[in-house]
Amino acid sequence: MIKGGYTGKILRINLSNLTTKEEPVPEALVKNYLGGAGFAIKYLYDELKPRVPALSRENKLIFAVGPLTATGASCASRMAVAAKSPLTGAMGMALAGGQFPAEMKMTGYDMIIIEGKAEKPIYVSIIDGEVSFHSAVKLMGMMTTDTQLFIKEELGDWNYRIACVGPAGEKQVPMACIVNERRAAGRKGLGAVMGSKNLKAIAVRGTRKPAVADAEAFKKARAAMLKNMKESPVLYSQFSKTGTPMVVDAMTEMGIYSIKNWSATGEINMVPGLGKAAQDTMIITRNPCYDCPVGCSQVKLVTSGPYAGYLSEGPEFETTYSLGSAVGVDYLPAVIAGDRLCDEYGIDTISAGVSIAWAMELYEKGILTKKDTDGIDLKFGNHAAMIEMLRKIAYQEGLGALLGQGTKKAAAKIGKGSDAFAMQVKGLEMPAYDIRGAKAHGLNYATSYTGADHNRGYAFQEIFDIPIPEKVDRNAIKGKGKLTKWNQDIRAVTCDCAPMCAFLLDMAVPAVACQNTADLVNAVAGTEFTSGEIEKIGERLNNVARLFNIREGFTRKDDSFPKRILTEPIKQGASKGQLISRADLDTMLDEYYAERGWDKNGNPTTAKLKELAIKRD
Ligand code: SF4
Repeated sequence: MIKGGYTGKILRINLSNLTTKEEPVPEALVKNYLGGAGFAIKYLYDELKPRVPALSRENKLIFAVGPLTATGASCASRMAVAAKSPLTGAMGMALAGGQFPAEMKMTGYDMIIIEGKAEKPIYVSIIDGEVSFHSAVKLMGMMTTDTQLFIKEELGDWNYRIACVGPAGEKQVPMACIVNERRAAGRKGLGAVMGSKNLKAIAVRGTRKPAVADAEAFKKARAAMLKNMKESPVLYSQFSKTGTPMVVDAMTEMGIYSIKNWSATGEINMVPGLGKAAQDTMIITRNPCYDCPVGCSQVKLVTSGPYAGYLSEGPEFETTYSLGSAVGVDYLPAVIAGDRLCDEYGIDTISAGVSIAWAMELYEKGILTKKDTDGIDLKFGNHAAMIEMLRKIAYQEGLGALLGQGTKKAAAKIGKGSDAFAMQVKGLEMPAYDIRGAKAHGLNYATSYTGADHNRGYAFQEIFDIPIPEKVDRNAIKGKGKLTKWNQDIRAVTCDCAPMCAFLLDMAVPAVACQNTADLVNAVAGTEFTSGEIEKIGERLNNVARLFNIREGFTRKDDSFPKRILTEPIKQGASKGQLISRADLDTMLDEYYAERGWDKNGNPTTAKLKELAIKRD
């Protein structure tokens, strides 16, 4: 019996006939999938027909929060947004923070399932469980900030929190994202799915704080969590002040900060232009997520030069890579401008930047010419070209229309061996860490159900040298299958289902993440999860997502890397000589599948599915 934490309600919105329906949250769903991504992925597996086109009315778009959201647990205003991805064709799931997730919970729902397609552009408002539909015809073409301001004004309440798409989502660009304030459910093209449903925005407003089942136990569990956070050697002393850009310096030192579409990792020092010190000088304020004492999110303003006046919340480490080092740009004001433009257009900074970086490499190799680029001199380091290509991607103009499809599909169209330089896995562009010098991190890119996604199984052991569950050699091959499974399962349940900010897992509670989650959830919901059961939920989620992908046609051969990773060693720096050969990848995959209880082809075995109580479709 669930006594708190959850609202206990799921809202279905059918856009085809503008109807809504409330359903109870089944107790078995709580027990087996906890919340957030667990709920969303289970429903997509059960309800989507195999191989539905991602941009069709048959796809569903799900927003799901978790038991800890808006309860007073720190850093838990997170939501999972999920659908079949138009970029990868696989399960698409992205997390977003900010204020929206807490407000969504307080409007009365643990999960909102969007179905069908509206006849004309609309937006939906929900206030304390009351749903209304509004015409969005006049919002078409509007940037995301203006969209949010306009809707608040029109609804006459500035306390609404809004998740919306920009022009790129409206145009169904497969790397479009969903933006709330300046936070994004960024990756896998979920904004295109929203746009394909003619849904410009969802506005939520709520006053219903979820009940807490055992206030005393919650106080204790919350205090234990805050103590862990306080004792972290980096969380408050460094991360809180600088945010993720501090990782630029650390990755550069390790020789795994990817540069110029991964062709020049270790060869150029980008720290003076893009590192912590450079970023710190541009901070004007911070904007923490709901109920977060850390507040890593730094707001930066460009005050001079060609990009004067641009303000962005970030750029985060990943964007500093994708719109900076990946495209050979070490001019931070351009990165800030690009970051802001991506937020306004509603496109994923990683996929957009990495696709432009790929095009730059093709241009420098002569595979693309000025005829293909509409006369743009698309060489590495040309920040004006990068900014213009972002616009072209958002509006599907010229080469931008091709790049917006992502590097995998674009390479298939361009041919001429261009796929060798397309830095993607399963169609999702690779994040910043050059995995040739961090093998478990790489194995996670290869096996994550969403494609090359650092957020699914971040190997903090390799990246930050944290010896939990044990010290690892980042370049060793053996043991990485076991480690990757553990990283993926722990992260899935604590960060994606509970859900809590991933930075706590990495920097404050890696050793006690599951116990900590069990204590907090049990206190708010009155459940009796053990730490082991919590970890099992993470494993269950990764298995269901795998089954979804298998049903869509993915096999072992998709758990792979681009040619560059397999054949081209890093040429300079602290990771010089490192690569992941085909044989090494196969060794890691064999170990990983065995640890997961999957067969040699990466299919979950009947015994494993029985153990996890998963019914195969
Ligand atoms: S640490 Fe940063 S990302 Fe995480 S909840 Fe706080 S402000 Fe948001």
